Amino acid sequence: MTHTHTALVVGGGIAGPAAAMALQMAGIDSVVYEAHAAPAEGIGTFLTLATNGVAALRALGAEEPAVAAGFATTASVLWSGTGKRLGAAAMSMTLEDGTTGYTLKRAGLYQAIHDQAVSRGIRVEHGKRLVAVETAGGVVRARFADGTEAAGDILIGCDGIYSAVRPIIDPGAPAPAYAGLINLGGYVRGVRVDAGPGTYHMIFGKRAFFGYAVAPDGEVWWFANVPEPHEPDRGSFASIGTGQWRQRLAGLFGEDAGPAARLIQATSHDLAASPVHTMPRLPTWHAGPMIVIGDAAHAPSPSSGQGASLAIEDAVLLGKCLRDLPGPDRAFAAFEQLRRPRVERIIKQAARVNSNKAATGAARIIRDMMMPVMLPFFVRFIANGKPGRRLYGYHIDWDTPASPIQE
Ligand SMILES: Cc1cc2nc3c(=O)[nH]c(=O)nc-3n(C[C@H](O)[C@H](O)[C@H](O)COP(=O)(O)OP(=O)(O)OC[C@H]3O[C@@H](n4cnc5c(N)ncnc54)[C@H](O)[C@@H]3O)c2cc1C
Repeated sequence: MTHTHTALVVGGGIAGPAAAMALQMAGIDSVVYEAHAAPAEGIGTFLTLATNGVAALRALGAEEPAVAAGFATTASVLWSGTGKRLGAAAMSMTLEDGTTGYTLKRAGLYQAIHDQAVSRGIRVEHGKRLVAVETAGGVVRARFADGTEAAGDILIGCDGIYSAVRPIIDPGAPAPAYAGLINLGGYVRGVRVDAGPGTYHMIFGKRAFFGYAVAPDGEVWWFANVPEPHEPDRGSFASIGTGQWRQRLAGLFGEDAGPAARLIQATSHDLAASPVHTMPRLPTWHAGPMIVIGDAAHAPSPSSGQGASLAIEDAVLLGKCLRDLPGPDRAFAAFEQLRRPRVERIIKQAARVNSNKAATGAARIIRDMMMPVMLPFFVRFIANGKPGRRLYGYHIDWDTPASPIQE
């Protein structure tokens, strides 16, 4: 019962190709328009695909190539910068059917989802940066920076946290919020660390936060979150060289116990830093034949480990709503009603984690004292309790009809 036949999908990251696959399953033809000339790179960035993200890919029949590109990560150990073990926590929840969370290079996940979409006959056009949209007579027309145009029944903005579609839907939409942290990451071979594969080690250092995990082939994947109260300009990092970052990180982690300083020193590829932004609450997700999903609508901080998983959930549920509800207006409204409470709850939880990572001085001492006391309770509460099941055990059944009363 769909009144929508064709869709323009703007953005070929994670939500875009996933949405195109869900639309195809719902009987809607779409083309994905991606600004970059080739599938996205991203030195040093990797991410976790939580069990709910794996389940959402499974609903599209697209789980296997994605998880094959990464490795299972099930646990995390938390340390203070003085070397004190603060506790252990599940990374994600292992479901009853054995589904676990995975860690993947961001580019690997992009490629896996992109390839799946292309193998199903979905067209992905690169070098198409959306600059304007016009709607008239039941047709939505997208204009791209290269001077070309495309038309369809609906337009789905999957163009990430710095979305161009978002301000077209709502010119008063808030800008992404700066989370007070800078993120960097890297990969190192040949450095011995006291850790086995599948476990993240997270160090709440004296001045900054450091995390690492060992891949099954022995490569160590690391990231650093550096507190920076003043929001840097988005482009300002481009002029900061790898040598300068290495020196700055050496100063930040030099006094901490653990392998942070050694791993950073041994990293031979270029380091690229990015300020961490979130999109906590966007008042309007859709207008007329246009909607935003994924990071364009609701970006949690990377601390949540949920941005990619939520983007894939969005894609599946939007496909269902468009399949089952009469016309895009009803489908978009139902989609937003179903999604908003879940994504906003997760964004709030992640913001609390960020404030722990940015803790300095007295706040850091209190955090380190409280963590061992609070953690066992927290772990039981999140990983095994109702909140954990609600977060990680979330499952979208493709075959049941969409209704605006789920969750
Ligand atoms: C450092 C870092 C670490 C992260 N760690 C995690 C993690 O551990 N777990 C997790 O789940 N998530 C993590 N995330 C978040 C995750 O990467 C995002 O939530 C996820 O990629 C969102 O998918 P998306 O498709 O909505 O947006 P994106 O993946 O950002 O894709 C948007 C796409 O749109 C394209 N685009 C942009 N503008 C235009 C335009 N005008 N026209 C056409 N195309 C356009 C972009 O080039 C891009 O390909 C992390 C993010 C960062 C930055």
